[in-house]
Amino acid sequence: MTKKVLKFGGTSVGSIERIKLVADIISNEHKKGYKLIIVLSAMSGITNSLISKSKKISENFDARELDVLLSTGEQESISLLAGALVSKGLKAKSWLNWQIPILTSGEHGNARIINLSKEKINKFLDSGGIAVLPGFQGISENGDITTTGRGGSDATAVAIAKLFETDTCEIFTDVDGIYSSDPNKIPVAKKIDKISYEEMLELSSLGAKVMQPSAVQTAMMYQIPLHVKSTFTNREGTKIFSEESINYDKVVTGVAYSKDEAKITLQGVDDKPGVAADIFSPLSEKQINIDMVIQNISLDGKKTDLTFTVKRSDLRKSTDLIKKNKKIKFSNLSFNEKVSKISVVGAGMVATPGVTYKMFKALAEEKINILAISTSEIKISVIINEDDTLKAIKKLHSEFKLD
Ligand code: ASP
Ligand code: MG
Repeated sequence: MTKKVLKFGGTSVGSIERIKLVADIISNEHKKGYKLIIVLSAMSGITNSLISKSKKISENFDARELDVLLSTGEQESISLLAGALVSKGLKAKSWLNWQIPILTSGEHGNARIINLSKEKINKFLDSGGIAVLPGFQGISENGDITTTGRGGSDATAVAIAKLFETDTCEIFTDVDGIYSSDPNKIPVAKKIDKISYEEMLELSSLGAKVMQPSAVQTAMMYQIPLHVKSTFTNREGTKIFSEESINYDKVVTGVAYSKDEAKITLQGVDDKPGVAADIFSPLSEKQINIDMVIQNISLDGKKTDLTFTVKRSDLRKSTDLIKKNKKIKFSNLSFNEKVSKISVVGAGMVATPGVTYKMFKALAEEKINILAISTSEIKISVIINEDDTLKAIKKLHSEFKLD
């Protein structure tokens, strides 16, 4: 009998009515004869509200205790759903992380699932039961409660699909799939039927917030096919799998944007080996991620300008670290936090020349100034002024015939 993981996100279990609706969906799947492992998020808004409670105690609330606190969100949702299934006359049961147990490694708030004990659950599935498991939470080797990062229920679902060797992993959410751009901003955006892990990864880490990037990465690593679909409609959704099985008729699959960028420019830094390393090493020690880097060619061979981007939330920390850094000299430090990153993503790019030119020309036609550029095999990203975001997405979406 086919084994399936069905994961439901926060909005899908966001109210009692919705939990009942999810119970109906599960009941239908169960009637079809599938063995079901359900993975849930906390009810929408709960994790955020728990975090803000902790912040009222302290901005630096203890990491171990924060995980204990946050894991209660999923405890609430799994018990409500398992109870809803039982009251429909089904055999269902919820388990908490430590009861299974779901073993994790890594730091609090960012743990990774490394193993879990399957016996109990397999036995229950064999007896016709529906297992309801909490996403997001685990237990460390020394017995502490851990969590797997924001949006971490996706990671749990993928890990469970892998460890139980299930046939599919279905991600139920509040949108009916992955779109060629943000459908709230671009009404002509189209649902994508099939997408590769690589493209999905670029889109999810670039601001299309449908799935947690590290979960997509794990799925890619173990070749676990994912199926993203809506809890609230019957549409087909989007299938995510490996590139070989996809036929590309379009060069660009999607246009993504992210508004949490900031740009920092250092003028008059020495143009000699080791300078960039000296600038970036204190930032990396503080876990600040550098995204794009541009170094100008120096005219006199002595001084140059260096521009790079960081997450907007890391801007202050970054400029402070640079000012405090005794190893580097520069004549001026400036920054701009009113910028956004626009990216076109498509595995079809690999075989098609001229995509970069087409993108730049399209932006020029709209008089949009490009502040920084970075490219990879299947992605081109540019930093532009935040005010131009919508104009840029619209233009690129139609330029690459995604409308
Ligand atoms: N409840 C957690 C969060 O809000 C995990 C998840 O929803 O995936 O981040
Ligand atoms: Mg989520």
